[in-house]
Amino acid sequence: ATLVAFSVGVMSEVYGELQRAAGATERLIEILECQSDIQTPPHPLPLPEPASGRVQFDQVTFHYPSRLDHAALSNFSLNIEPGKTVALVGPSGAGKSTVFQLLLRFYDPEHGAVMLDGVNVRDADPKAVRERFALVPQDPVLFGTSGWENIRYGKPDADDDAVRQAAEAAAAAEFLDKLPDGFATFLGEKGVRLSGGQRQRISLARALLRNPSVLLLDEATSALDAESERLVQAALAKLKAGRTTLVIAHRLATVVGADLIVVIDQGQIVATGTHTELLSSSPLYANLAALQFDVDFGRKEKLDARQAS
Ligand code: ATP
Repeated sequence: ATLVAFSVGVMSEVYGELQRAAGATERLIEILECQSDIQTPPHPLPLPEPASGRVQFDQVTFHYPSRLDHAALSNFSLNIEPGKTVALVGPSGAGKSTVFQLLLRFYDPEHGAVMLDGVNVRDADPKAVRERFALVPQDPVLFGTSGWENIRYGKPDADDDAVRQAAEAAAAAEFLDKLPDGFATFLGEKGVRLSGGQRQRISLARALLRNPSVLLLDEATSALDAESERLVQAALAKLKAGRTTLVIAHRLATVVGADLIVVIDQGQIVATGTHTELLSSSPLYANLAALQFDVDFGRKEKLDARQAS
């Protein structure tokens, strides 16, 4: 599923409006477009203005084309009010990333409807749908170009002032300014290698620049150093303010702070509630919390088992 997160991340950040991207990215877009069966309707429905960020899944059933014997999501219904933060949790393969893939319309479900601001995304122009989202992947990809351009991938028509503002809000400006050529320094494989926390801050700056109505966040599993973690959390708080956020949660602070936690197992929603509610109502959540979030609530044997392995 890391691969999935990678492809969604790259796709959502470079797809569509980012056609002018050069070299490898151009090629990547071609590959991704070839792989997508998504059709633009002949008369796409406009999404309502202003965007509110309401997200709905109505009895969605979906199989990946290469795995028709296995429902990635099954009769999946979820209604997310504008501005709320919803954490998706569940074991590996449960269907969490698939929720993102369907929202970004990289696939269409066989049954049911995925809706943004009351419009079935199938009836809208995929480009218009994707413009309303920003995705922050687990392990953000940097391109072999300058800091300026790496952030501008979020919104190719943004001017330098807007890029700098986003970088400052995401605490990326402070390290970019210290590089030999500042924001003009080349990043990525052949340029300056950034730490995980720094790459996340670039990714958050891209997302801020997009000013999305819905933020899709695939939280990093690997721990950052305390200072990086603090800066990333502060940038995230800015990014989440006033918008709908769906987060594939790997951090205790995230589930504790979420308005709603949705527990997914084998493509289905098996429980919803707050962290405290779910600890007592959902055995699956309680186990996940112990394993993933290190919540100690009398199930120490789970933690011990993990430490022993
Ligand atoms: P993880 O926590 O490991 O990232 P997840 O909850 O995000 O898992 P998904 O990636 O949504 O789970 O996967 C749901 C199901 O769909 C799994 O059975 C997975 O193997 C399958 N799947 C995911 N992506 C694809 C794909 N591109 N092609 C075929 N099957 C896929």
